[in-house]
Amino acid sequence: MALIVQKYGGTSVGSVERIQAVAQRVVQIVNAGNSLVVVVSAMGKTTDGLVKLANEISPNPSRREMDMLLSTGEQVSIALLSMALQALGQPAISLTGAQVGIVTEAEHTRARILQIKTERIERHLKEGKVVVVAGFQGISDTNDLEITTLGRGGSDTSAVALAAALQANFCEIYTDVPGILTTDPRLVPDAQLMAEITCDEMLELASLGAKVLHPRAVEIARNYGMPLVVRSSWTDEPGTWVVSPIPQSRSLEGLELARPVDGVEFDTDQAKVSLLRVPDRPGIAARLFGEIAAQSLDVDLIIQSIHESNTNDIAFTVTKNSLNQAEAVATAILPALSRGVSHPDGDAEVMVETRIAKVAIAGAGMIGRPGVAAQMFATLAAAGVNIGMISTSEVKVSCVIDEADCDRAIAALCQVFDVRESSVGRWEPGTKALAGQQELAPKTSSPGVARPTTLKPSVSSSHPVPPPVRGVALDLNQARLAIRHVPDRPGMAAELFQILARQNISVDMIIQSQRCRVVNGITTRDIAFTVGQLDADLACAALENAASALGCGEIVVDREIAKVSIVGAGMVNHPGIAARMFDSLARQQINIQMIATSEIKVSCVVAKADGVAALQVVHTAFGLSGGETIQVSA
Ligand code: ADP
Ligand code: ASP
Ligand code: MG
Repeated sequence: MALIVQKYGGTSVGSVERIQAVAQRVVQIVNAGNSLVVVVSAMGKTTDGLVKLANEISPNPSRREMDMLLSTGEQVSIALLSMALQALGQPAISLTGAQVGIVTEAEHTRARILQIKTERIERHLKEGKVVVVAGFQGISDTNDLEITTLGRGGSDTSAVALAAALQANFCEIYTDVPGILTTDPRLVPDAQLMAEITCDEMLELASLGAKVLHPRAVEIARNYGMPLVVRSSWTDEPGTWVVSPIPQSRSLEGLELARPVDGVEFDTDQAKVSLLRVPDRPGIAARLFGEIAAQSLDVDLIIQSIHESNTNDIAFTVTKNSLNQAEAVATAILPALSRGVSHPDGDAEVMVETRIAKVAIAGAGMIGRPGVAAQMFATLAAAGVNIGMISTSEVKVSCVIDEADCDRAIAALCQVFDVRESSVGRWEPGTKALAGQQELAPKTSSPGVARPTTLKPSVSSSHPVPPPVRGVALDLNQARLAIRHVPDRPGMAAELFQILARQNISVDMIIQSQRCRVVNGITTRDIAFTVGQLDADLACAALENAASALGCGEIVVDREIAKVSIVGAGMVNHPGIAARMFDSLARQQINIQMIATSEIKVSCVVAKADGVAALQVVHTAFGLSGGETIQVSA
C-alpha cells in the first residue's frame, strides 16, 4: 500500500462533471489499496475572477485582504470534491490549510511554508478517509493566526510540501496537458512530451516561464528527493517524471526556509574575452558564436547588454587553454561585425582577461529569495573582492572575480553560508584555491527524511542520450531596469541588490557592462537586470534614492521586453548551442537586447512584440517539434 499525494489544478476541477471525474479516479486508486491525500486548486479561473473583483475596488489592495479573498476559491473546491467522494461511498474529509496546520511565514501573498503538522491528516487516513486539502493556503506562525497564500500557482507547492512532510511514496500533479512538454503547447502546438526531466532543468524552465509547475514545488521535490510526476487528469497516460538526486540530510523544520545554499564552488580555469562597442543589430551574436563554435571552442558564461548609445558589449568565458584561439576568432571577426559603425567613445575592440576565476554558491532554496544573492555580493564586498561578471540560475549564483581573490572569496562564502566543504566544478592542478578540499561532498540519504520505497514505475527516457536542449520557455511578464554609471568598486552590487532584497524583489539576468566610462573622475559601469513586471515600479522607487546617494546615474525601465530561454543539462561541454539559438533569432531578424547564461540555460531578452515568434523559431531550431499536436484539455 502506498501513500500518494495528488494535486488537481483549476481546469481539472473546473466544473461539477470534472470534480466527479476526479472523485472517480481517486476512488479507483484507493480501491487499489492506496491511501490518498488530495490537494485541489480553486475551480477554473476562480482566482483570476477574485483578483479582478479586488482590482475593481482598489488598484492596490492590502495584501492581507487579498489572501483573505483568494483563499476562498480553494475552500469551495475541497468541499465539493469531498461531497463527490462521499456520494460515491468513499469516506472523505476536506481541510483548509489552517485546519491541517500548514504553517507559513506571515508574508502575505507569497508566504513560504515553515512546517506542516501531519497528526490530523494521519488520523483521518487511519480512519480510512481520503483527506482533501485546500492548496495554495496556509496559516501564519504568528499569534494572530493569519490566513496566508503561497503565491499564484502555489497549489503545486502545497502538494509537494505535504508529500515531503507525510513521507509519501510520490506526488502526482494532475493538469490539463499530458505532462511536461518541450514548450507551452498553447504557443507551439507540436511541442513534444518528455518522459522525464531532471529537477534542475525543471527548476529553470518553471522559473523562466513554463507555468506547468510552480518552481518552489520543484525546489521542495529536489531538496527532499520526492518523486514527482505531472500527468493529465483526462487520460491514464504516464506523464512526465521529475527526477531528483538523492538529497542531503534535511530537517522538515523550516521546510521552505532552511539552508538555501548547500555548496560553494569555484573554477580557476577561466579566461574572459570581451568585445566592446559592437553594433546593436540582429545577427552579431550569431556570427561571433557561430565562428567560435566552428572552432569547437566551448564557451561557459556569455553576457550581453545594450548601452546608452545603442552599441553592445558581449563578454564570454572559456577555459584558459582555449583563450588564444577564442581571442584570435574575436579579433578576426571584429572588423566585419562593426563595418560601417562608428562610435563617439571609440571603435569596437577586443579585450581579454586571463587572471580570473569563477566562484559560485549552489543549492535549491534560492527561488524567490533575493536576499541570498545579495548576501553573496555583500560577503564578497566585505572581503574586498570586486565582481566582474554575474550569472544567476535557479540553483546557482556565479561571480567572475580576480583569480588572486579566489581563496579569500571561497573562505568567506563557506563561512557565511555555513558550508564546510566546497565542491568543485572544475579544478586545475596547481591552483591554490582551498587545495585538499576539492572532492565532492558525499551525498547521503537523509536519516531525518527517510525516503520511502517508491512505487513509481520505472521510467524509460525517450532519448537514450538526452539532447542538449530539453525545453524552451517564454516569459512575457518581465521588465528590464538599467542603472547607469555605477561606480566600479567592491560593494556596489551588494548595496544595490540588498535594497531590492529588502523589498523582496527577485532579480534575474544581472549584467554589468564590460566597458567603463569615467564620470566626474570616477570609473563607472552600467548594471542592467530583469525583474517581474509587477515589481518594476517598486524596484525603481526603492533604487532611485539610494542610487543617487551612491553616485550612480539615472535608472531606465523598459517593460516592452520578452525573455526567451533554452534549458538543458546536456548543453555543458556541447559547443555551438548558444550559437544555434542566436542564429535562429538572427534568421528571423529578431534583435537580441540582452544575453545571460548559466551552465544549463541561455536566456535572451528581445522586444516583447518578437517574443512568441522567438519562442517558435528557437523551438524549431533545436528540432524539438514532434509529429503530433498536443491537446490542451481546457
Ligand atoms: P493547473 O491549473 O493545472 O495548475 P496551469 O495552467 O498552472 O495548470 O499549468 C498548465 C499549463 O502550463 C498548460 O496548460 C500549458 O499551457 C502551460 N505550460 C507552459 N509551459 C509548459 C510546458 N513546458 N509543458 C507543459 N505545459 C506548459
Ligand atoms: N488558485 C491559485 C491560483 O490560481 C493556486 C493554484 O491554482 O495553484 O494561482
Ligand atoms: Mg498551476
